[in-house]
Amino acid sequence: MRRVHLAGPASRSDLANYTGLNRSTVGDLVAELTALGLVHERAGVRGVPGRPSPIVAANPNGITVLALEIFNDSIAAAVIGLGGRILARARAERARDGSSPEATVARLAGICRTLLEGRADQPPIQAISVAVAGVVRRTDGDLVVGPNLGWRDVPLADLIRTSLSLGVPVFTGNDADLATLAEHLRGAGIGCDDFVCLWGEVGVGAGIIAGGRPLSGRSGFAGEVGHLPLSPEGRLCHCGARGCWETEVGEDALLRRAGRAGSGGPLVVDLILAMADAGDPVAISAIESSGRWLAIGLAALIHTLNPERIALGGFFATILPYARDALTAALGELAIEPLAVATIVPARLGADGPLIGAAELAFEHWLDDPASVPLIDRPEWSSAADRRVAAKEVDATRLAI
Ligand SMILES: [Zn+2]
Repeated sequence: MRRVHLAGPASRSDLANYTGLNRSTVGDLVAELTALGLVHERAGVRGVPGRPSPIVAANPNGITVLALEIFNDSIAAAVIGLGGRILARARAERARDGSSPEATVARLAGICRTLLEGRADQPPIQAISVAVAGVVRRTDGDLVVGPNLGWRDVPLADLIRTSLSLGVPVFTGNDADLATLAEHLRGAGIGCDDFVCLWGEVGVGAGIIAGGRPLSGRSGFAGEVGHLPLSPEGRLCHCGARGCWETEVGEDALLRRAGRAGSGGPLVVDLILAMADAGDPVAISAIESSGRWLAIGLAALIHTLNPERIALGGFFATILPYARDALTAALGELAIEPLAVATIVPARLGADGPLIGAAELAFEHWLDDPASVPLIDRPEWSSAADRRVAAKEVDATRLAI
């Protein structure tokens, strides 16, 4: 199930090779997953010696997750099915007006209802999973602090559970951690056991994969690299400290240096890049400065973590083509030579990364035991065994990355 979910359709014989199980066992397992509605099979390719091996593919509607995103400038919702397929998606701008968690979640719930109404003829969603721009506690999924949202101690999972009333488990995670999970499983970090994904918008955070596992720290707070104190005499940060990395490298820093302080969002960033394309010296200098400040923090991460690959996502992916020369030159001066070989690449999943990662957080819970999945009442099930399987509900305990 995990193989076809993450890597796409595979023949039964490929699955036998991958799992080391014999073909009849693979056949039995595929039959069970087909009965559960989690995979489809289609005829294999002819023209190879012997009988063609059937192709097994994840059924996107077999399990669907409602993935949500709460950023400073935007909120979004998507229905994501097995195989990582985005089946429906809606995004809306969020004004930086200090709106409360309750007001933001109520607006997000409205978007979700519209999204789900459009899928009224499809099986119901099986979980909700939220990516939020803030520090999320692993034990209870609460938002401890979202410095740029201006939120503190928000029982986010409970708020969303109550607001949407769907009666399904709710998972929560930090936006950068979930973008990293998505990139590691499906994007720029596939097959890379020592991987960092730096995610930048107004705030800056990182997800860290070390030795193939997410590095979470004692309470799940690891990766708050935007608040590394890299400029001690510098500006006041939203977190209350002075000189955090994000005050020099986040979106606001670029806008400030380009003479656009007070504005914000992707359109303004695009405008600055267009000005750089047109040769505007202020825009070019602002971007180069972002590149140099990126290098300062990346050197700290490289020396601490020795990653093989670093993916830059969000706002950083947008400016990377423009900032790469300044970044590379500064990194060459700052990083010890053998360590500077870490490859720096743009994140591959674009703005959907945090949503896809949120869905994977929920899928992960089931992939360990796909037979525990079905919560959907399928009329075609007749045997008592099928009904027993259907009765096994997933634990509604909140989990957070
Ligand atoms: Zn800070």
